[in-house]
Amino acid sequence: STEDIKILLLENVNQTGRDILKAQGYQVEFLKTSLPEDQLIEKIRDVHVIGIRSKTKLTAKVLQEAKNLLVIGCFCIGTNQVDLDYAAKHGIAVFNSPFANSRSVAELVIAEIISLARQLGDRSLEMHRGTWNKVSSKCWEIRGKTLGIVGYGHIGSQLSVLAEAMGMSVIYYDVLTLMAIGTARQVPTLEALLEEADFVTLHVPETPETKNMISAAQFERMKTGSYLINASRGSVVDIPALIKAMRSGKLAGAALDVYPNEPAANGDYFVNDLNAWAEDLRGLSNIILTPHIGGSTEEAQRAIGIEVAEALVRYINQGITVASVNLPEVTMRQLTLDEPNHARVIYIHRNVPGVLRRVNEILAEHNVDKQISDSKGDVAYMMADISDVKVEDIKEIRDSLDALNSRILTRVLY
Ligand code: NAD
Repeated sequence: STEDIKILLLENVNQTGRDILKAQGYQVEFLKTSLPEDQLIEKIRDVHVIGIRSKTKLTAKVLQEAKNLLVIGCFCIGTNQVDLDYAAKHGIAVFNSPFANSRSVAELVIAEIISLARQLGDRSLEMHRGTWNKVSSKCWEIRGKTLGIVGYGHIGSQLSVLAEAMGMSVIYYDVLTLMAIGTARQVPTLEALLEEADFVTLHVPETPETKNMISAAQFERMKTGSYLINASRGSVVDIPALIKAMRSGKLAGAALDVYPNEPAANGDYFVNDLNAWAEDLRGLSNIILTPHIGGSTEEAQRAIGIEVAEALVRYINQGITVASVNLPEVTMRQLTLDEPNHARVIYIHRNVPGVLRRVNEILAEHNVDKQISDSKGDVAYMMADISDVKVEDIKEIRDSLDALNSRILTRVLY
């Protein structure tokens, strides 16, 4: 029952998420920080659910101690702090919140477009140093200018709407053919976009194809006096090539929110022994440098708290894996736990031939109302709602499924 579920929340997970989990009646332990590995191992032995953010490393070494763990909630965007494959192979679902901060990023980019066009960063810096420097040369309105969006996904498309509202014309390039929003227009190639845009903004994922996607040849294609914004991933822009393009005057400005080798903690970053180009980058004019804050707003943190906590509740109470990053996505109707003689059987197993036949031999004694199964790589997830099952039968079903050699994890909800 829900009171038996033990949850450990680390790294100051947002209040919205905590409230949702507590309202379910789960036992929730909340810590503001992450834990050193030995303490983490000590605590994780006991819990069914762990909620983390980016600092807690859930390696195979840690997870192998977590004998009761059903599910991991990453209350953040990234999941590379978790050994996803190990978790899947041990029947531990992992959830995150990839899109709750899209709006925050889009708003930051809007701010940067105007800031670059008006050289706001430099004027502000000068005033901080005591200098009055009133200029209008090479300062522009953004109305009527063309924004080129590379990657028209959650952030890119949101940005498209905001930019049009400010009177910009929007073009975009994406590997997929996507429906344009408003009067935006998809262009067939990156080159076509670079040649036409006054502002180029990058919203692609980090993949082998997007590594150094914007390098010397691409800067060459861009309009003289155009601007580049990167709030996607640090690998997408070749920074030494950017520095050259800024120095030559090809680019009139740039904004970077993401970098190669980002540090894990706040503190010194732009030092040359970490990145050879650091001093050169800092020395440029009209370049806005921010420490990966695109998605860092109160609203985004709240939305992440709600999204991940709700996914955890659905998984714990219903076995629904929709939006899981490491298990096949399987869903069924809402299970009413007070329905008599009903149970939901969840069987996570190795994806090998013949499993479902054996599973159904076990379930065949009962009435299977609905059954769904899906696989992802080496792992498969079967969910079945059965009726006319008595409480005494449950143990037998569970034991029989547990005895199959394909078994990773068996759960029976009733
Ligand atoms: P998304 O998956 O919704 O959209 C990405 C789009 O890029 C998709 O439409 C995809 O088809 C397209 N794409 C993929 N490869 C491409 C390629 N080689 N060329 C052209 N288009 C390509 O992603 P999103 O949520 O919009 O996020 C975009 C980027 O922003 C990601 O890199 C994400 O990590 C990053 N991000 C940064 C912050 C921040 O704080 N700065 C916050 C959230 C997300």
